[in-house]
Amino acid sequence: MHRTETFVREAERWSAHNYAPLPVVIERGESCWVWDVDGNKFLDMLSAYSALNQGHRHPAIVGALKEQADKLTLTSRAFHNDRMGTFLKALAEAAGFTRALPMNTGAEAVETAIKAARKWGYKVKGVAEDRAEIIVCENNFHGRTTTIVGFSSEDQYRDGFGPFAPGFKLIPHGDLEALEAAITADTVGFLVEPIQGEGGIVVPPDGFLARAHEICRANRVLLLNDEIQTGLGRTGRMFCGDWDGTRGDILIVGKALGGGVYPVSAILANDEVMDVFHPGDHGSTFGGNPLGAAVGLASLEVILNEGLADRAEQLGTWFMDRLRQFNSPHVKEVRGRGLMIGVEIRPESGMARPFCEALKERGVLCNDTHHHTIRIAPPLVIERETLEASLPIFEEVLSPSVVA
Ligand SMILES: *Cc1c(COP(=O)(O)O)cnc(C)c1O
Repeated sequence: MHRTETFVREAERWSAHNYAPLPVVIERGESCWVWDVDGNKFLDMLSAYSALNQGHRHPAIVGALKEQADKLTLTSRAFHNDRMGTFLKALAEAAGFTRALPMNTGAEAVETAIKAARKWGYKVKGVAEDRAEIIVCENNFHGRTTTIVGFSSEDQYRDGFGPFAPGFKLIPHGDLEALEAAITADTVGFLVEPIQGEGGIVVPPDGFLARAHEICRANRVLLLNDEIQTGLGRTGRMFCGDWDGTRGDILIVGKALGGGVYPVSAILANDEVMDVFHPGDHGSTFGGNPLGAAVGLASLEVILNEGLADRAEQLGTWFMDRLRQFNSPHVKEVRGRGLMIGVEIRPESGMARPFCEALKERGVLCNDTHHHTIRIAPPLVIERETLEASLPIFEEVLSPSVVA
């Protein structure tokens, strides 16, 4: 019997069934490659939802982890540590904000942004107590906490988890008129993904974020820019908002900030917003810990020093072009930016999942997002030749006969 089956059976027996992974059991990774327990080699074209922009086990990041692990791993924020300030300085300077607040997971950073926006609304803008509203987009994905799923438009994310927190208003993604119409005197924030990732790689019209930020400014509303998936080089710019010349008033980062080895997230803002936090207002036992700070700094440096945003732009533009040339009867659209690419399958051709299974059989790991879209998001360190070698596999799987 293949070892894969044994591991899958064990995991299925002992874990909660809140995921339906492809039946591949990975035991080793390096750069954009992974190996399973039966010795098969795969090209990782998911990158853990863009948490592995730097590739698996980047030596500089693993080196920083090991070095720090031998010195100090955790202090809690009850004491200072000698790593956090250096990391936050580098992050704030790279992002162009005056302050950063470190957390661990993406959802925690989104929660932090919501708290910051609300408190700014009450203390600075002057919104009456408990009236603050935050506008969000249909088809959003910002994480899995009860507050966040409460403003999801995806029934499954909400079903069975209510009652939910009030104070959120949904508008269509990319719709400036709807944004303008939804704003009231009580609006404190507009929370948005510059490209919707889990929503199916949905790219808004050019200039959307720039115009949205102008509308926000004119109405004293904060733009909360969730770049947990799109940030840190993925879309061909350091941050996806750079395509529109704005990073928002609160920038939310996570995923690749931990280089695929450790959960590190943060929000970035300028003093007017960040100064709403006073000792005791907010916190996290692990947020800003020295191990995460060392990993975060190394992860950021790899993105910058290796020019990964430029790579993503060049390779992504070229790769999307090649995918569009297939003329597959199954493909409705190829879209994306940089190396954040979605291949939407026509409704007549069914779900994206069987295509991902067929790709897996041929050594390429992708996953489906929003039912009908194959997500292609390899580590940004991938070589052009490696990408090129994957094209015939995509062409075969998308050809008329492979997936019925
Ligand atoms: C993944 C993701 C999150 C949540 O991050 P977690 O680390 O899974 O909590 C939030 N927003 C966006 C846009 C994401 O892609």
